Amino acid sequence: MTNRLWSLSIVCLLVSSCGVPLAKPLQDQSSTRHSNPDTTYSSTQVSRGLVESQLDKETTRLNADLSMSPTSFPLSSTTPATTFAPRSPSPNERSTSNVKSKSSPKKATSQPESSKRPSLPVQKNQGQARILQKKLTLSQLVVKYPDTFKLRGSSQEKKVALTFDDGPDTRFTPKVLDALKANGVKATFFVLGSMAYTHPDIIKRIVNEGHVIGNHSYSHENLPKLSADKFQNQIVSTESILQGMIGYAPKLIRPPYGAINEEQVRWIADHHYLIVNWNVDSLDWKSLKAEQVLHNIMQQTKPGSIILQHSGGADSQDLSGTVQAISPLISKLKAAGYTFVTVPELLHVTKGK
Ligand SMILES: [Zn+2]
Repeated sequence: MTNRLWSLSIVCLLVSSCGVPLAKPLQDQSSTRHSNPDTTYSSTQVSRGLVESQLDKETTRLNADLSMSPTSFPLSSTTPATTFAPRSPSPNERSTSNVKSKSSPKKATSQPESSKRPSLPVQKNQGQARILQKKLTLSQLVVKYPDTFKLRGSSQEKKVALTFDDGPDTRFTPKVLDALKANGVKATFFVLGSMAYTHPDIIKRIVNEGHVIGNHSYSHENLPKLSADKFQNQIVSTESILQGMIGYAPKLIRPPYGAINEEQVRWIADHHYLIVNWNVDSLDWKSLKAEQVLHNIMQQTKPGSIILQHSGGADSQDLSGTVQAISPLISKLKAAGYTFVTVPELLHVTKGK
């Protein structure tokens, strides 16, 4: 009888020490994170998708706002689609997905009201703050960082700046330079580090003929999709190449597609650069005829305008219309009382950092 009582006591002790209170939280934690991987992954995908879709919308919205269009670029290895590598979800995203998993009634009932719950709202808010930060549109960034992000000069002076992106190349850049020289007009060329490296002689010609050089990244990446390191490398490597050729580190940066995010704007501000987009888009990258290029520019130009054209592009792009439009454009705008200046002259800043 005594032995039986002892056996019963031992069984009771074993049950209480290995029972629900200790084992359950570990099981719940495990089930939340791992037992339903599809739910967790899809929640993570949703968070990531939201951020990217906001950035896409942002670029699209700016395109509409500024009447600009993303160009395709010849270097296939540099297109956003091929360079964007899906990243692992961050701890905050995991937290956000955990929050969502735990909101299901089934999990809520099996979740003890202890330990983990108090920390969830904080994690959730952090995740939301991260997403909200990336939701600022480019138009909002221009308003928030007026000293760093420019689209135009003063409307008080009847001056405009011609800008040419994506060069230097050997097909169109020399012809653009010929047309500018024939009309005695100085312009601003936002060049790619990769193209400058390949065609240093044309970079030197641009500078020798009195034009200004700006930084258009190394390989025409969609900057908001790059890591901080890769973004900075796009700027700094191009600057190094250019500085050796032209004798100054360009202060002006034009991001490819005009696209940039707030973190990158802050870095640019901290490093004393200036972002220069535009408020007149010729749409010449569509291989338009000269008449159409001319019409597009004349329709939008106002005092202080920064006008976007191209002096280089993909093999499939024909910029003959750009070249042919230069002389009549200059004639028409001069007849309307405009004078032509470089971007640093228009914005009253230095061309070098
Ligand atoms: Zn470009």
